[in-house]
Amino acid sequence: MTLQEEIKKRRTFAIISHPDAGKTTITEQLLKFGGAIREAGTVKARKTGNFAKSDWMDIEKERGISVTSSVMQFDYAGKRVNILDTPGHEDFSEDTYRTLMAVDAAVMVIDSAKGIEAQTKKLFQVVKRRGIPVFTFINKLDRDGREPLDLLSELEEILGIASVPMNWPIGMGKNFQGLYDFTHGRVEVYQPEDGKRFVEFDENGEVPTSHPLTKNPFFTQALEDAELLLDAGNQFSEEEVVAGQLTPVFFGSALTSFGVETFLETFLEYAPEPHSHKTVDEEEIEPLNPDFSGFIFKIQANMDPRHRDRIAFVRIVSGEFERGMDVNLVRMGKKVKLSNVTQFMAESRENVENAVAGDIIGVYDTGTYQVGDTLTTGKLKKAFEPLPTFTPELFMRVQAKNVMKQKSFQKGIDQLVQEGAIQLYKSYTTGDIMLGAVGQLQFEVFKDRMEREYNSETIMTPMGSKTVRWIKEEDLDEKMSSSRNILARDRFDHPLFLFENEFAMRWFQDKYPDVELLEQFSV
Ligand code: GDP
Repeated sequence: MTLQEEIKKRRTFAIISHPDAGKTTITEQLLKFGGAIREAGTVKARKTGNFAKSDWMDIEKERGISVTSSVMQFDYAGKRVNILDTPGHEDFSEDTYRTLMAVDAAVMVIDSAKGIEAQTKKLFQVVKRRGIPVFTFINKLDRDGREPLDLLSELEEILGIASVPMNWPIGMGKNFQGLYDFTHGRVEVYQPEDGKRFVEFDENGEVPTSHPLTKNPFFTQALEDAELLLDAGNQFSEEEVVAGQLTPVFFGSALTSFGVETFLETFLEYAPEPHSHKTVDEEEIEPLNPDFSGFIFKIQANMDPRHRDRIAFVRIVSGEFERGMDVNLVRMGKKVKLSNVTQFMAESRENVENAVAGDIIGVYDTGTYQVGDTLTTGKLKKAFEPLPTFTPELFMRVQAKNVMKQKSFQKGIDQLVQEGAIQLYKSYTTGDIMLGAVGQLQFEVFKDRMEREYNSETIMTPMGSKTVRWIKEEDLDEKMSSSRNILARDRFDHPLFLFENEFAMRWFQDKYPDVELLEQFSV
C-alpha cells in the first residue's frame, strides 16, 4: 500500500459525552467490532479498577473515573481507526480540550432520557470552535427516554447545530422494536423472534407488508415521524457534515450492542480523512506532505508504575514515522532521535509497525518534551500553531512538607507543570509557589503523584478561586500587589495578577486605569 493509501484510510476521532451517558460502553462495543478486544467488559473493568493488567492510577480506580486520556487503535472495514479517549469528569477539561485538538472528528453520545447535559455542552463548544464534524449517537433506547423529535430540537436549540437523523427508533423502553434505517433501506430489529436482525425494504422502498412489524403501532408512528422529518427536516449533506454544520444522528442502545455497528459503518463512511494543520506562519501542512511532522498534545507520566516512564503523545500531521528517525524539536532547535516509540492497541501498548499522518504515537520521554511541541523533518521547519490554553480558576499555595527535600519537590513540580497537568505561578513579592487548576481533582492528583512518583510530601493551602489577568512587563510595579490582587509570574516568567474576584479586579482597574489587563499574555 502506498503512503497515500495508508493515510487516506485513517479515521481519528474522540467520543465526547457527559459522565454516564454511555461513552465507555460504546467504546467497548466499537473495540469489539474492531476485534481489538474479545469481550465487552474490558474497558469497563479498567474504568472501575477490576482490570488485572491495570496500569492506571490509584486515584482513578478509587473514584471509578477516567482521569487520563488514552488512545485505542483498530482496523475495521478497510479503515484504521484511532479513538482518543477523553475523560468525562469536568475537572479534567483542560486535558480533554487538548485531546480534541488532535482529532479529525467527534462522536457525541447522549443519554436519551437526559438530553444535552452540561459537560456535553462544554465539550461541544470546543469541537464547534474547531469546525470538525460531529456525529451524534443517542443512547439507551432500551429504556424509556425523551421523544426523539424533542431530542433533535434540543440539538438545535441548546447546541445550535442543525441535525439530520440517519435512522429512527421504533418505540423505546419496553416497546423498543428496532431502528427504521432509511439510510440503508432496512429495519434493524431489536431482539428479533425469528433471529433475523435485518428486514430489507422491498422494491417500493417499504417494509414488506407480510412482516408483523407493519402491524405494530410503534412502527406506524416511527414511519410517520420519519416521513415528516424527511419532508420537512434538514437534508443530509456530506459537505455540511464535514464542515461541522450538520450533525448526523443515530439511535441505539450501547449496552445491548444495538445500532452500534450500523453507526460505526456509516460513521466511517463519512468521517473525514486526516486534516491539514496550520503552522505559526499560517501555512497548511497537508497530511500527504512526504516530510514527517507532528505535535505533542499530551504528556503522561508513569502509565506503567513499574517503569516510571513518561510518554509524549504525538499526533502525526504529515508523512510517515520510521523507527529511529531523527526529527527537529522546533522549540529547542535541536535534533532528537525517535527510537523508543509505541502505538496504542486496545489491550496493550505495542511497538509501532507503521504510523502515518492521522495516527497517534507515544514517544518515551525523559523530560525533553513539552505539551504543544512540534516535531518535523526535511523541509518542514516551522512550529504548528500553539494549542489553546485554559485559564485556571482554582488556586492552592504549595510547600514541601520536609524543607530538607526541596530538590525532589522542585523536580516533581517542574515535571508535572511541564506535562501540562497543572499551572504554576510564583508570587512576585514572597516567592511562594501557587498552583492553578481547572478543577479540584487536579490538585488531588498532583498531591498524590508528588508523593508516589517524587517522594515529596506537600502541604497545600487552598486560596479559593481567582481571576488571572496578565500585564505588560513595563507596567509591573511591586507596589500594586496586595492580598486581593497578588502579583505573580507564570512559568514562562510573564507577569500577572491573581485577583480575588471580579470586584477586586474592577477596583484595581479604577485605581490603575493605565495598566492594561490581558486575558492572555501577549508581547
Ligand atoms: P460513561 O460514564 O459515559 O463512560 O458511561 P458508561 O458507559 O460507564 O455507562 C454508564 C451507565 O449506563 C452504566 O451503568 C451502563 O451500563 C449504562 N448504559 C450504557 N449504555 C446503556 C444503554 O444503552 N442502555 C442502558 N439501559 N444502560 C446503558
